[in-house]
Amino acid sequence: KGERLRLPPWLKTEIPIGKNFNRLKNTLRDLKLHTVCEEARCPNIGECWGGGEYATATATIMLMGDTCTRGCRFCSVKTARKPPPLDPDEPYNTAKAIAAWGLDYVVLTSVDRDDLADGGAEHFAQTVSHLKERNPNILVECLTPDFRGDLLAVEKVALSGLDVYAHNVETVRELQRYVRDPRANFDQSLAVLRHVKGVNPSILTKTSIMLGLGETDAQIHATLKELRDSDVDCLTLGQYMQPTKRHLKVEEYITPEMFAHWEKVGQEMGFVYTASGPLVRSSYKAGEFFLKNLLK
Ligand code: SF4
Ligand code: SF4
Repeated sequence: KGERLRLPPWLKTEIPIGKNFNRLKNTLRDLKLHTVCEEARCPNIGECWGGGEYATATATIMLMGDTCTRGCRFCSVKTARKPPPLDPDEPYNTAKAIAAWGLDYVVLTSVDRDDLADGGAEHFAQTVSHLKERNPNILVECLTPDFRGDLLAVEKVALSGLDVYAHNVETVRELQRYVRDPRANFDQSLAVLRHVKGVNPSILTKTSIMLGLGETDAQIHATLKELRDSDVDCLTLGQYMQPTKRHLKVEEYITPEMFAHWEKVGQEMGFVYTASGPLVRSSYKAGEFFLKNLLK
């Protein structure tokens, strides 16, 4: 106890690089987009940008700066009580750059901005509408904060013209307080996801859970069930990785077989899709999964 676990072999494997990868990599330079894919050195970049069977290139773009008003114990993003003000031109400029970049599926995400009256909901909504105006075919997912449970803020995003609304519960119900900032909680996050469906049943809702934080199988099962009961459509499960020594320790490296088990459980419970694997992240190959499961 107290020692750090060794990295298992399945987390050291080489990841394939799909065919769009070089094109996207080379054209990103002048666009001034902040991709989470590059900035977080995400190991999935070759697959997400490259596209798979459907050649669907997915990338995640960060809005509203790099400084968060919260401090979750698993996350390495910078924290401040009052981050710099928003750039009012960001929605327009970002939409223009994304449209020019040639993605098929984009995930727009942000830090939590509890310092702003609407948590940045209008900023998300404007980015989506500018983007859809320029490129109606691009699939747009917003991965939003909980907006402190402000359902009007949630509604703004839910009605902005996006295709997928994602909000992560991050961990099982029992570990919320231990893992997330105290301003977040399971019921508040479930209420966000439920409200999205209530105001716009035509879009998909999605959430993500990290495993390996000490949760039990029974807790995972119960959490999945609660999500499905709240009409959440898509689910991703991945291994928690400790970003620095100051962050929560990994309690367990979940085996690929157990991840496959949870994928099967998710499918049996009736999620539109469940993506589950050691390296799966919230936005992992989101475009591929979307097309594969919606064209079925
Ligand atoms: Fe980017 Fe998300 Fe894919 Fe990582 S998983 S490469 S952050 S889209
Ligand atoms: Fe990180 Fe999001 Fe938590 Fe902020 S709210 S610390 S960005 S996980």
